Amino acid sequence: MSQKRIAIFGSTGSIGKQTLEVIAAHPELFVAEILTAHSNESLLIEQALLFQPNMVVIVDVTKYATVKKALEGKPIKVFAGEEALEQVAAMDCYDFMMAGIVGFAGLKPTLTAVENGKAVGLANKETLVVAGDIVMRKAKENRAAIIPVDSEHSAIFQCLVGEQNNPIEKIILTASGGPFLGKKPNFLVNVKRDHALQHPNWSMGAKISIDSATLMNKGLEMIEARWLFNLAPHQIKVVVHAQSIIHSMVQFEDGSIKAQMGLPDMKLPIQYAMAFPQRLKNNFPRYTFDKPNQLSFDEPDTRTFRNLHLAKEAMEKGGNTPCVLNAANEIAVYAFLRNRIGFLEMTELIEKTLEKINYIATPSLEDYFETDGEARNFAASLIQL
Ligand code: NAD
Ligand code: MG
Repeated sequence: MSQKRIAIFGSTGSIGKQTLEVIAAHPELFVAEILTAHSNESLLIEQALLFQPNMVVIVDVTKYATVKKALEGKPIKVFAGEEALEQVAAMDCYDFMMAGIVGFAGLKPTLTAVENGKAVGLANKETLVVAGDIVMRKAKENRAAIIPVDSEHSAIFQCLVGEQNNPIEKIILTASGGPFLGKKPNFLVNVKRDHALQHPNWSMGAKISIDSATLMNKGLEMIEARWLFNLAPHQIKVVVHAQSIIHSMVQFEDGSIKAQMGLPDMKLPIQYAMAFPQRLKNNFPRYTFDKPNQLSFDEPDTRTFRNLHLAKEAMEKGGNTPCVLNAANEIAVYAFLRNRIGFLEMTELIEKTLEKINYIATPSLEDYFETDGEARNFAASLIQL
């Protein structure tokens, strides 16, 4: 395998940092070519000095001068602003994009990479939730490989290797249940930000941690899976598996179920996406069967965790509905993280926004951007952000 040139979009985030760890462990295979960050200039500078990429982007333009000055005299180009993300994504100097930006902001650069025929390791699930039809179509047209990084989707992808001609009967997405598994509304009503950020099995960025606590994350993942694996909504089942050892499963038409297992560690799906189809030797801790332990499987409690139900309905309705769901959820999580609304109020906000925004059955990319803006404005108006 020749050295792959990696562009990390969102290098200062949880996925981005772990991608750099994988690069550092395999310098003969990978080189960091582009790093981008929203506003954490000090970490971006530190990463740039260590990995010596060809270029960096800092989205927050007020930080440009600081980054530029810190990298003076180094052969590293520095760009700033949101448009720079797209411009850099269109460049020839890289082979593989790690799409590690969080939220709707990841859509444009990821789409640009796909339009340029790049291989994309997709962590940014919101891209497919919002515009999965368009992104997958463009990937096909431009022969851009989209390799999932989300652990559940990586598991399904791994189960499908060698099964090209065997149709999927259904997929079983596993959910840890998050920090409030088994809790009821009378408990959730008082939940605060810091508690919700404590995930039992995974350490992740703030937004996905809250999404995991509300089960919206699993709802977004159902929609993500639908596009990645070209499935109908009824072929996607969610099962609560609190230990996060089985990362997801595929059931084929003969009834056989394949599962992918391992300790919860995002570096594994990150590395798998980067090296695919090769598996790289590493020393990550292994899951063993030495100690007595149990793997459990339960139905999700969608009456308490209504976000999962809302997401399922949005997936079934299709059109611009998942885009509305995503936008309202981003505003809700933002407000919850700032202690502006309560845990259960996030669901109410999403529900009201879903009722308000006009339905479009087959949206264009422009429609998705308009829908996103309208849904955000409406959701924000409900809480006077
Ligand atoms: P994070 O908050 O830790 O990092 C987000 C990164 O995106 C940062 O580098 C930040 O600078 C950048 N960013 C944020 N807003 C931006 C904007 N408006 N424009 C440009 N850049 C921006 O998030 P994360 O946990 O690393 O998650 C990233 C994505 O990966 C999310 O879509 C998440 O759902 C997905 N994902 C994460 C994990 C995980 O373990 N962290 C697992 C599965 C999927
Ligand atoms: Mg996941």
